[in-house]
Amino acid sequence: MSDPSAQSADLQVRNPATEEVVATVPAATVADVDAAVTRAARAQTAWAALAPADRARLLRRFAATVDAHLGELALLEVREAGHTLGNARWEAGNVRDLLDYAAGGVERLTGRQIPVPGGIDVTFLEPLGVVAVIAPWNFPMPIAAWGTAPALAAGNAVLLKPAETTPLTALRLAGLALEAGLPEGLFQVLPGHGAVAGNALVEHPGVAKIVFTGSTAVGKQVWAKGAAHLKRVTLELGGKSPNIVFADADLEAAAAAAPMSFLDNAGQDCCARTRILVERSAHDRFLELLAPAVEAVRVGDPGGDADVDMGPLISRTQLDRVRSYVPDTLDGIRGKAPEGPGYWFPPTVLTGVRPDDRVAVEEVFGPVAVVLPFDDEADAVRLANATDYGLAGSLWTRDVGRALRVSRAVRAGNLSVNSHSSVRYWTPFGGFKQSGVGRELGPDALTAFTETKNVFISTEA
Ligand code: NAD
Repeated sequence: MSDPSAQSADLQVRNPATEEVVATVPAATVADVDAAVTRAARAQTAWAALAPADRARLLRRFAATVDAHLGELALLEVREAGHTLGNARWEAGNVRDLLDYAAGGVERLTGRQIPVPGGIDVTFLEPLGVVAVIAPWNFPMPIAAWGTAPALAAGNAVLLKPAETTPLTALRLAGLALEAGLPEGLFQVLPGHGAVAGNALVEHPGVAKIVFTGSTAVGKQVWAKGAAHLKRVTLELGGKSPNIVFADADLEAAAAAAPMSFLDNAGQDCCARTRILVERSAHDRFLELLAPAVEAVRVGDPGGDADVDMGPLISRTQLDRVRSYVPDTLDGIRGKAPEGPGYWFPPTVLTGVRPDDRVAVEEVFGPVAVVLPFDDEADAVRLANATDYGLAGSLWTRDVGRALRVSRAVRAGNLSVNSHSSVRYWTPFGGFKQSGVGRELGPDALTAFTETKNVFISTEA
């Protein structure tokens, strides 16, 4: 954003299905960030000194409070992000589950005793201090929780900066944390502009770690700026994930699952399987099966019709961006979408594009996929890896050996076989190559918010 007055302006939250302004939220300034860091540092010292069982109990209470407000949180997500109600309920439930899972890790976060001559050697896992979580708009609640829950559990304070377009669920979560009894200042939400509040968090010497989820371009800036203080980072960035369909696969199942693998959340999903790679001998049959499945996807206002499969894009900016990738002249399968108001784009599968066309290599972040044929297994792996990204991928085959070979050969952090599942809070998640740095979720989530200290105690007289 280049206009400085826009950067200090309040945030106008619009329902993307109707374009109505549903809330206006004051944007945090650099001074607000500074004051928040001071409060967080104070709260963190007391939090880290609590007995682990007490910290765990408070986090469980936070999870239970979120659970008691699941419907309310889900409706907020529908209004500010245009998600379907089913997805939004899953997202709120994911926050609850993460808090519970992280709470279960508090007492298990232990160091080691390592045999050494002449003494005793022990390691401690100490909290980092104040952690900033900078979240995107596409899954505002879960992504906020992926960083926040383990960071709190490991004894840190958290400052969460939600995206400009989606501050409402984050603000509500901060309220619920207080209701649950979390100490004042420990978990604060700073709605604001990336270039102001986000940047201030990245530059602040009192912030020890940045968990950034967003575009690869901004992620690189965050890493570079954070390096001035050697800040720890976790970066969850963009994706352009393959969906590889071999001729020996259950083609009906693969075609039935393909639409929602790139249309879920209107394609605004870092794991969206937007490059459908199909073995040449099955290509035409697969497209015959795929076309009706794409055309059957119901697109509409999730606030008005609970039965829709896909809602709108988040903003006019995003709609213009998606349109710029898909000229009307390109061949393909096109579903239906409302005219407007709202930021609508129809489900779209492009055929006849080249592997190096812009739409086939760049992250569109909309309901758009391309289909590319391949000749054999080696060709499939080559095409799958022909991208700077490496977040996720799927492959469909009945051959177990091939499933294992290709899973190992694709350079991506999250692969699924005969499925498009990528995210479970108890398994690790993150990207290879330019899709990110570090991992979230899974059994090591808490350790990512600690420093290891080694202490040697001499037993020599
Ligand atoms: P974005 O990079 O524009 O913004 C992400 C966040 O960073 C927002 O809160 C924004 O305000 C903030 N920000 C912007 N400029 C900043 C700066 N200079 N300093 C600090 N913070 C700044 O991304 P977006 O458009 O909100 O989200 C979409 C992107 O997120 C896509 O590329 C998507 O693939 C990616 N994403 C990745 C994952 C993952 O887990 N790998 C998950 C979801 C989304």
